[in-house]
Amino acid sequence: MTAFWIYLSVTFTIALWLGFMIRRHLDTFDWRYRRDDIWTGFCLSLALWPLLLVIKPALILKGKVVLEADNDSALDLTGSRAKRMRMLDQITRNPPACGSEIIYRQGDCLIDGQKSISLLFRTADIESHFKGKDLPVFSPQEAAALVSLIRNRNDTQLEATEIPDSINFENLAFEMMANGYGMAECPLCATSYPASRLNKSFPPRHPGWNFDTYACPEGHNLFNRKAIHLLLR
Ligand SMILES: [Zn+2]
Repeated sequence: MTAFWIYLSVTFTIALWLGFMIRRHLDTFDWRYRRDDIWTGFCLSLALWPLLLVIKPALILKGKVVLEADNDSALDLTGSRAKRMRMLDQITRNPPACGSEIIYRQGDCLIDGQKSISLLFRTADIESHFKGKDLPVFSPQEAAALVSLIRNRNDTQLEATEIPDSINFENLAFEMMANGYGMAECPLCATSYPASRLNKSFPPRHPGWNFDTYACPEGHNLFNRKAIHLLLR
């Protein structure tokens, strides 16, 4: 009987401890976007604490079972939604310094040894092009963060501002380029070219993902962009 009471009191202590960690570290974004994970972690800990304490004690002792995984990948677009939404909210309320130009790094880079190609846009062009239109981003939170960033810019600051990782700027960048705005830097020519001088090619469509290729006027392929996904029927 004593063993049972010890077991029960340890379970109760763990519940209190995790409750304390939840109260201390989690915010509204955790509850909005990770609620199921939090409750699953909490309940699993109460059911399986003897096992967890043996195989990975930090899950319980440091409360990691209810906290968000702390890794850098959570900051990119595929990472934790709660973390991303929290960052977007911070940008909306308190936008970082933004100058007269912004840089977007387009991945899917075709130059060996290079991760991305820098696309440069004038902030004022983005504002005038999208005035009165919906921004082609993926969530209203991203749109709010971008609007706040752009409206609070300082045109006298000439150093280009990086688009924050939490905003997926890709669609917007390509719409701007399609309308003749922006510059793309070719690392092989060490020159920036206006978007209107890039050559865009459409390979023959095939089942699966299809990519459009963008090249500089000297014929260097710079980057791909996913264009369309065709299903084989
Ligand atoms: Zn080139």
